[in-house]
Amino acid sequence: MSGGAFQEMLIFAAGAVSALLAALILSRLRARSEGGRISDLRQELETARVENTVMAVIAQHASDGLVIQDIQGRIEWSNPAYSRMTGYSAEELRGRKPQEFVLPPEDRLTPEEIEDFRYDISSGALDSFEIIRNVRKNGEFFWNQLGFAVVNHMGTREPKVIVIARDVTEQIEREEALKRAKEDIQRRAEHDILTGLPNRMKLAGYFASEMQAAGDSGERIGVLHVDLDRFKKVNDALGHDAGDAVLVHAANVMSAQVRKKDLVCRFGGDEFIIVCPGLPGVDALETLAGRIIRQLTKPMQWGGQSIAIGASIGIALSNSQTRDQNEVMKQADIALYEAKNRGRNGYVCYTPDLGETVARRNAISSDLGQAIAGNEISVVLQPQFDLKHNRVRGLEALVRWYHPARGVLLPAEFLPAAEIQGCMQAIDQIAIDGALDALKMLRGEGHEGMSVSINVSARTLTQKGYVDKLKWEVETRGLEPRDVVVEVLETIVIEGRDNVAAQTIAALSEAGFAVELDDFGIGYSGLVNLTRLPIQGVKIDRSLVQDLPFDSTAQTVVRAIFRLCEDLDLSVVSEGVERSEQALFLQQIGGHVVQGFGIARPMAAKDLLGWMNRLREGMTLPVLEGAEALRRSH
Ligand code: C2E
Ligand code: CA
Ligand code: CA
Repeated sequence: MSGGAFQEMLIFAAGAVSALLAALILSRLRARSEGGRISDLRQELETARVENTVMAVIAQHASDGLVIQDIQGRIEWSNPAYSRMTGYSAEELRGRKPQEFVLPPEDRLTPEEIEDFRYDISSGALDSFEIIRNVRKNGEFFWNQLGFAVVNHMGTREPKVIVIARDVTEQIEREEALKRAKEDIQRRAEHDILTGLPNRMKLAGYFASEMQAAGDSGERIGVLHVDLDRFKKVNDALGHDAGDAVLVHAANVMSAQVRKKDLVCRFGGDEFIIVCPGLPGVDALETLAGRIIRQLTKPMQWGGQSIAIGASIGIALSNSQTRDQNEVMKQADIALYEAKNRGRNGYVCYTPDLGETVARRNAISSDLGQAIAGNEISVVLQPQFDLKHNRVRGLEALVRWYHPARGVLLPAEFLPAAEIQGCMQAIDQIAIDGALDALKMLRGEGHEGMSVSINVSARTLTQKGYVDKLKWEVETRGLEPRDVVVEVLETIVIEGRDNVAAQTIAALSEAGFAVELDDFGIGYSGLVNLTRLPIQGVKIDRSLVQDLPFDSTAQTVVRAIFRLCEDLDLSVVSEGVERSEQALFLQQIGGHVVQGFGIARPMAAKDLLGWMNRLREGMTLPVLEGAEALRRSH
């Protein structure tokens, strides 16, 4: 109890006891009167009478209820404030115990318990305040703050207990309203307004406590990281109301699929996290993910139209090695990224292998800027050999990253990251420089009559001024556009927005460059492109050449490509020629230009010069010798 409160209590206790005080003073006076003078006695009596009156007035007008009880709790006296509080008159109260009438139904005591009640004045327990819920005569509840004081030696045999009662209902209600308001604010802070789902704040707390509990019991916790597919498209095309409707729909779908103890949380934007404590294993998580995807891919109705979305899901499961929830979340995120990479509407479970791949990809990604600035990326060249004229027809420039720690990295390892980071143009520029410098150098060494082929990314091809820039690069080296072949992926032409790619191809052709369609013959039916675009040739994809000559489908497709290209007067380069049988087959159907490890691997410019010199001096190519031998033996 605070000092102030205690003092306050004593003042009221003193007031309440005024009636008893008179008796006390009288007994004191009686003791003194034996030896004292009568006038002193009268004087003291007068003082006591005044004090007594003052005390009585205070007791009558005190706003707090004051009660004098005997040690069994029976009320001997009470003030008007106590009557106002309880609704009982002083007469009704006298002789009764408060437990008989102030306790609400749920706290009521048995008659025996009430009968047995006695204040324990020895323990010091009476020094404290307490707040209890009481009920008035009219049935109304109120909060009663009680303070107690024990008065001894009042000339009576037993001590008395003075109770100070204060109606603190308003204060308590205010506090409760405040608490409710605080809880409401907390609830709002932990929930997403749009979907009503818990948000990341709630997630953090929930996840941490579940992890803690799981750590103790050895249980595993599953996490699904859900990302809606096509959400941005819906938002852009149909507006934010439609976007909101999609999010609410998705939230409902997910909430309907999970168990009671799972937590579905809106993680931000169109991403959701589902935490599943106590799951037996990854199978159950996969089943859940599959169900969610199936439900989410069903078109939803909004404003009279049907909206189709989907979802990609990354799955992770805590285990004994997982240190905290952030680690599980990170794993689910990695798995999600992979799920999106593999195409939409699928789920992927995290594995340590996946983690390593991603770590490597991330490391590569973060080194990329430095690699470009530090000239770690350069060009190798692979010859394209013309079997008919027995000479090198061209060179394809391919980029390599000479990583100081990881060794030589192939394009497949860093081009996806370059694409994401927007460094494709820088890399394509390195390829242009390397290709043209190499061609110029070889010309200088007397190797004439070759072109150089340069791969171009969609980003670079659709860049404004690309053709002029390339022309300038060619001319400043004393070369001509017809010395350069630009290799364009068939997919770029098909996917190209607004046909910018097609226009650039036309511009390249106009400027005198040759354009060849790369990776031809797989996936897309490129026949339309062959007639529509001003291109000079195609490169048959390695995967088709690989299956030659024994796979009949590959044979049929390759033969068809050659026939068509002959009709359209297009050149054909066959990629990935490794074996004599492939070379022979191609030769027999009119495929004279071959590129592949069977001729030569891609080489740095100075190695290529050596190779060219040896070729000029009569070096034979084993694959071609083999093809010749095969031809003769047939
Ligand atoms: P691509 O344009 O189809 O290049 C041919 C790929 O096949 C090269 O892989 C080459 O090394 C490989 N190759 C050639 N002959 C054989 C063979 O006989 N057997 C096998 N197994 N492979 C063979 P690389 O260098 O790894 O390049 C991969 C892809 O990266 C290229 O495919 C191209 O699309 C892209 N790329 C390379 N350099 C550049 C560049 O400077 N700019 C752009 N935009 N893309 C590039
Ligand atoms: Ca190529
Ligand atoms: Ca290719």
